[in-house]
Amino acid sequence: MATEQKINLLGLDRAAMEKLFLDMGQKPFHGRNVLKWIHKHGVIDFDAMTDVPKKLREQLAESAEIRVPEIVFDQPSRDGTHKWVLELDCNNRVESVHIPDGDRNTLCVSSQVGCALDCTFCSTAKQGFNRNLSSAEIIGQVWAAVHGIGKPVSNVVMMGMGEPLANYEAVLQAMNLMQEDLAYMLSKYRVTISTSGIVPAIYRLREESDVSLAVSLHAPNNELRDQLVPINKKYPLEELIPACREYVKNDKRRKVTWEYVMLDGINDSDKQAKELIRLLEGTPSKLNLIPFNPFPGTEYRCSPPERIEAFRQRLMKAGIISITRKTRGDDIDAACGQLVGKVKDRSRRELRITADRIGGVSF
Ligand code: SAH
Repeated sequence: MATEQKINLLGLDRAAMEKLFLDMGQKPFHGRNVLKWIHKHGVIDFDAMTDVPKKLREQLAESAEIRVPEIVFDQPSRDGTHKWVLELDCNNRVESVHIPDGDRNTLCVSSQVGCALDCTFCSTAKQGFNRNLSSAEIIGQVWAAVHGIGKPVSNVVMMGMGEPLANYEAVLQAMNLMQEDLAYMLSKYRVTISTSGIVPAIYRLREESDVSLAVSLHAPNNELRDQLVPINKKYPLEELIPACREYVKNDKRRKVTWEYVMLDGINDSDKQAKELIRLLEGTPSKLNLIPFNPFPGTEYRCSPPERIEAFRQRLMKAGIISITRKTRGDDIDAACGQLVGKVKDRSRRELRITADRIGGVSF
């Protein structure tokens, strides 16, 4: 019953944890110890935190809790990609995807249940928007991967469901924890936020954080981008590109990663490749070409592999590092734009139908 009122310590970064302990009349270092227990050791039982005084543990148990998301199912893919579904509350679920690749173990994390942006080629968009995730629910996905499923995580990409910059505060706090020495210790080059291009939030992020920036570009001009990524009508390319250039300006190692979904006959011509080269001139850039992942009801098709390669070669010749992203986990619907989670439909029965569709597992 008290659960609703108790503060969930899982989502507090170092500054927030220290403040909470100060407000409780305690020394901030106890807060740092608790943070370390939760994220470094995976301990969520106050009683097991042996370097926290017993009295303080009792006080904590009364006013706070450590609530981690529940893993409702868990599905490995043939190619080593692994997806699981986390239940946040009885109406909301999100998916996380773990992608091993050589030394790299990338976790793809969601920031919202659904998405409000309505990009025309994305299946998450088709499901509408339910709510923002809290910082606890965002970092809870990393906690669940590392301590729940036992996966190593060397990189985090905020590329799951949702638009992370539309849930700025919670995402920032969770990304602080990803980089925190007392928690997951990921370097600033190994935490990437992917945005459809919310320009004021890019400027703010530049001041308040230091993570890698990926931007969903998908078109070389406003006319086409207005159709594919409708937020472009609000923040057009002449505002977006300078904001991104500014973001990477002070760090020579940084490049903007541009994501470009390859849509047959829509954005993949030689002319569009040339236009793209002109658009990116002067911005330190890396281009990720993403083969379109189809989903039921879409009219788009993926560009043929030869077209993708010809497009990539043109960009490479112009000096832009361009990589065609491997499609991973498509046998379990874990590829880009295929994450479904649970949006809008509220009944248990419908939840079960979604579960069948996502994982082929009944529960
Ligand atoms: N909202 C954020 C992050 C989410 S998606 C953003 O827009 O960047 C991560 C990437 O997958 C984005 O570049 C998105 O445009 C792309 N994507 C979405 N649907 C896709 C699909 N069906 N096939 C391939 N890529 C897709």
